[in-house]
Amino acid sequence: MSKNDIDYLIIGQGISGSFLSYYLYKAEKNIIVIDEAKPFTATKIASGVINPVTGRRVVQTWLIDDIMPFAWQAYTELGKEINANLISQCNVLSFHGNEQMQRAFEDRSIDENKYLKKPANIDALKNYFNFYFGVGETNPCYLADMQTLLSGWKNFLLNKNLLIEEKFDATKLTIQNTNSITYKNITAQKIIFCDGIEGTRNSFFQLLPFAKNKGEALIAEIPDLPRNNIFKQNLTIVPWKENLFWIGSQYEWNYSDANPSATFKLKAMMQLQQWLKLPFKIVDHWAAERPANIERRPFVGLHPQQPAVGILNGMGTKGCSLAPYFAWELTQHLINQTPINPLANIARFSTILSRN
Ligand SMILES: Cc1cc2nc3c(=O)[nH]c(=O)nc-3n(C[C@H](O)[C@H](O)[C@H](O)COP(=O)(O)OP(=O)(O)OC[C@H]3O[C@@H](n4cnc5c(N)ncnc54)[C@H](O)[C@@H]3O)c2cc1C
Repeated sequence: MSKNDIDYLIIGQGISGSFLSYYLYKAEKNIIVIDEAKPFTATKIASGVINPVTGRRVVQTWLIDDIMPFAWQAYTELGKEINANLISQCNVLSFHGNEQMQRAFEDRSIDENKYLKKPANIDALKNYFNFYFGVGETNPCYLADMQTLLSGWKNFLLNKNLLIEEKFDATKLTIQNTNSITYKNITAQKIIFCDGIEGTRNSFFQLLPFAKNKGEALIAEIPDLPRNNIFKQNLTIVPWKENLFWIGSQYEWNYSDANPSATFKLKAMMQLQQWLKLPFKIVDHWAAERPANIERRPFVGLHPQQPAVGILNGMGTKGCSLAPYFAWELTQHLINQTPINPLANIARFSTILSRN
């Protein structure tokens, strides 16, 4: 086997491509990752919150009882490989916006949701925030450090000559047969696309029901705010590097470009002024598109018509928790032909994909 005769060519090193390349590398497969260094991608600007509950109705997140312990183990293991601590527990304190939301949270915590608790010292929060309808705690929540993971895993791959930093050029790809592709001077058994939002323009997968949306975040100094919780109201405030906080985000479905917008910044600053009792200073502003989809379930597996071509994408708002789990599942499928969860397997879109 020559140096360029490999098992898997992976396109994209966001959270999906990072974990997929990690598991395939650990399984002693020959891999090459191609990633174009972009300043803003979904993973680069994500806050990294792994939250077991979702939405205003605070329902438990899909598969969360499996995904939470898996994520803890996955980030801890990858962290050891790159000498970094990538995950910590950081519970969410939710400030209810009205009586109805307060009741929804309290009813669920009593009845059915083991992750919802009443926080220990609500009065202390009055030093930092204006609020009128109580506070609930989601416990445990995890915080994963996306930026350290991306840069640490990128350096690991570069040191082993396993990463090519360039834009993947689809015109140079040839599918030889069901188990072989060539790209420039590389021959691989399979090519796996982990290309995030570019999946919506990828000729193999663009017919999948992507429903991309834009998110934005501000980075701020809030010198006197405690750093042991994530605070959530209309905005979420997340402890960030050094003495900074990540503040976001919104879900915008109609937008003309993916750049940071003055509208978001102004609205977020007004909300912060009403909510926070402390002074703050905005030091940065980011935006990126999320590779979301209509069903809110990831796209995982091999193309039904082109089995040399695979995908790990469609992570939507939950890539930090879903990507490690489904990267593992895809790795096992590729190596041992084990099944992929049918709700995530792209085989569910065979008819749509046969139109490509
Ligand atoms: C503001 C915001 C906050 C978020 N917060 C959270 C959170 O707290 N928790 C959570 O679970 N999720 C969060 N998300 C969602 C999460 O970020 C995404 O689900 C996840 O990052 C998607 O990862 P990915 O690897 O699939 O895609 P991406 O991160 O987009 O990575 C794709 C990679 O492929 C590369 N690429 C694409 N095309 C090519 C090409 N042709 N050639 C070379 N390289 C290419 C890109 O440069 C990129 O590096 C957030 C998203 C946003 C926008």
